[in-house]
Amino acid sequence: MQRREFLGALAGTAVLGTFGAFRAHAASATGKAKVVVVGGGYGGATAARYLREWSGQGIEVTLVEPNASLVSCPLSNLVLAGSKRIGDITLSYEALAKRHGVNVVRDHVSAIDPARRVVRLAGGGTLPYDRLVLSPGVDVLSGEIPGLAQPGGDQILHAWKAGPQTVDLRRQLEAMPDGGTFAITIPLAPYRCPPGPYERACLVADYFSRAKPRSKVLILDANPDVTSKGALFKQVWATRYKGMIEYRPQYNTIDVDPATRTLKFEVQDDERADVLNVLPPQRAGAIAVASGLATANGRWCEVDFLTFESIAVPNIHVLGDAIQIAPLMPKSGHMANQHGKVAAAAIVSLLAGQAPNPEPLYNNTCYSFTSAREAIHIASVHRYDAAQKTMVTVPGAGGLSAAPNALEGTYAQAWADAIWTDMLG
Ligand SMILES: Cc1cc2nc3c(=O)[nH]c(=O)nc-3n(C[C@H](O)[C@H](O)[C@H](O)COP(=O)(O)OP(=O)(O)OC[C@H]3O[C@@H](n4cnc5c(N)ncnc54)[C@H](O)[C@@H]3O)c2cc1C
Repeated sequence: MQRREFLGALAGTAVLGTFGAFRAHAASATGKAKVVVVGGGYGGATAARYLREWSGQGIEVTLVEPNASLVSCPLSNLVLAGSKRIGDITLSYEALAKRHGVNVVRDHVSAIDPARRVVRLAGGGTLPYDRLVLSPGVDVLSGEIPGLAQPGGDQILHAWKAGPQTVDLRRQLEAMPDGGTFAITIPLAPYRCPPGPYERACLVADYFSRAKPRSKVLILDANPDVTSKGALFKQVWATRYKGMIEYRPQYNTIDVDPATRTLKFEVQDDERADVLNVLPPQRAGAIAVASGLATANGRWCEVDFLTFESIAVPNIHVLGDAIQIAPLMPKSGHMANQHGKVAAAAIVSLLAGQAPNPEPLYNNTCYSFTSAREAIHIASVHRYDAAQKTMVTVPGAGGLSAAPNALEGTYAQAWADAIWTDMLG
């Protein structure tokens, strides 16, 4: 998809009318309706911005986020390759506050009281809401790999939430001697960013081919096959990284011994490596689980796809990676951004006493770098199916790269620049 088409698709996501007053339930000095957004990542930041913009600043929006800035997971694998620094993917909340009038509160939501419609902050105090938006991302279930709690287990990183672990994993790769092995383990789907682990394997191999050419990358995947862009990744591994990347499907990691840097699997023999990158299974962020919203296997939150309102608790809208996805809907930043817009438009309508758009349509484009310069993409379009009450892919829409190329590397950077501006203003 060309950059212009992508921007057009983003802009065209919501269908909006003209609204009068927004009905406020929560006590408000201004008389304005209040929305609290929990989590300033791809879903939450987008929802906060568009709630303000599409209500004509008629809704008071408070965004609660513990981190001072947003460190983007998209492009974070380039930090591991050494072609970007963590500062290049660290983004400010300033424009969201100053330009869009979002009240950004640096805190952590410790509890939600849906009966009284208030959230409690870890730092003390409560915030009332008319509608609550929850986009807490994923919790990485490290407890499912018991050895991670053993001495030295803290040196075995997932780096699946961009930030300090990204920097530490890069340091481990730099310290690894030439001729060593980097092993990445992948949990059974669904997990955050289906192509992300395979992109990471490519970018670590790209670094090795320049700095440590005798080294190896081992991909140990619990899934029966590559979960996204399989043919394209396999082609790159067989050509550009021939002899350097080895892919093994159906390797379900169940434990690790930090003392010997050994991985243990459900079926196969143990494997030792010099740098271990263990991605444990995942579920919706802890606040969603603790609030009784994770209705699918206790892991993911089921929502009404017209509004993203939880099926379990009224007036709470859950977005992004935390939701139980519709078929072929990836857990991606692009998708979380689209959720944020559909939810914002629906909440603006609902608070004005109007029905939400009955036919939401959204798209997804996932770029993956296969080297520091070249990238591939997969794109899809999803529409609401009223009979099935879920999102379905639109046949014939979307697309897939023919092969890795440098032009798409420039598109991938442009995608990131565009979506960061879109989310954060
Ligand atoms: C290595 C990697 C590469 C990726 N590459 C891509 C890519 O190229 N394209 C793409 O589209 N996607 C990509 N993704 C996926 C993308 O990062 C996620 O899908 C996206 O971040 C999901 O958005 P979210 O809002 O659900 O969660 P997040 O963006 O993780 O945001 C969640 C936020 O909630 C906050 N939070 C959690 N609990 C609380 C609480 N109790 N109180 C207050 N705040 C709270 C957290 O601090 C966090 O800031 C990648 C992911 C990884 C790991």
